[in-house]
Amino acid sequence: MASFIEKTGKLITAGCAAFLLANTAFAEPPPIQKVSSKEDIHAALSGGVPGDRWKEGLLFEGVKPMPWLKSAANWFPGTEDVQPEEMRVTFMGTSPSIRPGQMNTSIYVELGNGDNFVFDMGEGAVANYVAARVALNQINHVFITHLHVDHFGSLPYLWMFGTWAGGWHEQLTVHGPSGRTPEYGTAKMVEGMKMMLGWHTDAFSVFPVGKGWDIKVNEFDFRDNGGVVYEKNGVKVTHWQRSHAKDGASGYRLDWNDMCFVWTGDGRPSKLDIKYAKGCDLYVTEMQAELMEISSGVQGVPPFLGRYTVDTHHTPAYAAGYLANQIKPRMFMTTHMAFDPYQNEESVAEVREHWKGPFHFGAPDGIVVNMTKDKVWVREGILPEFPNNRSPQFDFSNGQLVVPLPPTDRSKIQEPFVREQQIDPKKYYPEGYHPHLLEEWPVKSDLVVPLDTLPDNLKSSMGEAWRLKQKNLKTLKEQGK
Ligand SMILES: [Zn+2]
Ligand SMILES: [Zn+2]
Repeated sequence: MASFIEKTGKLITAGCAAFLLANTAFAEPPPIQKVSSKEDIHAALSGGVPGDRWKEGLLFEGVKPMPWLKSAANWFPGTEDVQPEEMRVTFMGTSPSIRPGQMNTSIYVELGNGDNFVFDMGEGAVANYVAARVALNQINHVFITHLHVDHFGSLPYLWMFGTWAGGWHEQLTVHGPSGRTPEYGTAKMVEGMKMMLGWHTDAFSVFPVGKGWDIKVNEFDFRDNGGVVYEKNGVKVTHWQRSHAKDGASGYRLDWNDMCFVWTGDGRPSKLDIKYAKGCDLYVTEMQAELMEISSGVQGVPPFLGRYTVDTHHTPAYAAGYLANQIKPRMFMTTHMAFDPYQNEESVAEVREHWKGPFHFGAPDGIVVNMTKDKVWVREGILPEFPNNRSPQFDFSNGQLVVPLPPTDRSKIQEPFVREQQIDPKKYYPEGYHPHLLEEWPVKSDLVVPLDTLPDNLKSSMGEAWRLKQKNLKTLKEQGK
């Protein structure tokens, strides 16, 4: 027994010593050991590494992460600034069939000069903009490729809630093609949307809206192939016709800083695609794999319906590869596709029939492309499932925050009866708790707040994008751009 206690005692002592050692491990630096030979170090650290000795991978000519990326593997929204010379492209919606993880099509293009552009605004895509920390009032230009609802379904929400959330000073402009007749053009769609949102617009007019309700439409002639849709600050957007069963479908090309991005929208492979996208740095097209019968079993689309839909409207994966090989981009990407394992391998094989260069899927949602003149890198973005809005972003160049006077108030849009039925707050707020209710808009004109009197937290949170833009523009100016 004694020996047992003795042993146990020793064990306990030994245990304590180990605990103490573990606790003091940080206090003692690791011991210095004898340095390995130069030969061993060289053999171990550069063994198997290409250096300049051979080329690694089939896809990696100019495909490299940039040093400013916080992680070469993943993009975490809000952790990286777009650099002055950079173009960043994020896939915010990637499928014609909407499902969690793949909202309807939308592509977000951010430029180093502080400008940003939205290409298509499919249903549900707003959720990913929010998750990617884009304040809705940062979006001022939406280019719609065509008027299938999977390409513009989120527009009503963006317009209404983007205005509510600070879209007071810059109007939202919707760019899009005309139709063969006026009733099928983008302007008519926006007019119809305004009508659909009549109640909502009037109801939200109790809020500051400023210029928010004055949505603008830039409808261009769909036949004007190569025509300029937008040109400002060194950014040029051109368009061309796509064959998508009905007249009024377009592809877009954005040129800035000697770099080019193309989003074709939907359509059959065409000579016009080759003509207008030729040599573009980042070429994005839609793609459908040749799996009509298998897909019908997986997706529930009868094979004849799938075949007919693709053959009259869409780009088969073989054709996508064919186009890429004609256009020869620095990076070829496909989107507007189901991201499923059984399709993905097949799609790559079909694209590879013609295109051997850099290729990635622009799917599922959250895929991010960073591009400069000499590098391009594609990562998976980590979009949170329960994000919250970013603060509205304002241009503080005039040193002021201006909150416009709401155009109306409750008394003008609601009969008194139902308001009189509201329960007296004294009945539900606990004894001693009397919040100061804001039942009327507190001022009678536009509220103009000099920046230096704005609380610091508001000044910094609402001016983040503006400050980055100032910084980047200064850098670009110094470089003579
Ligand atoms: Zn579509
Ligand atoms: Zn379509």
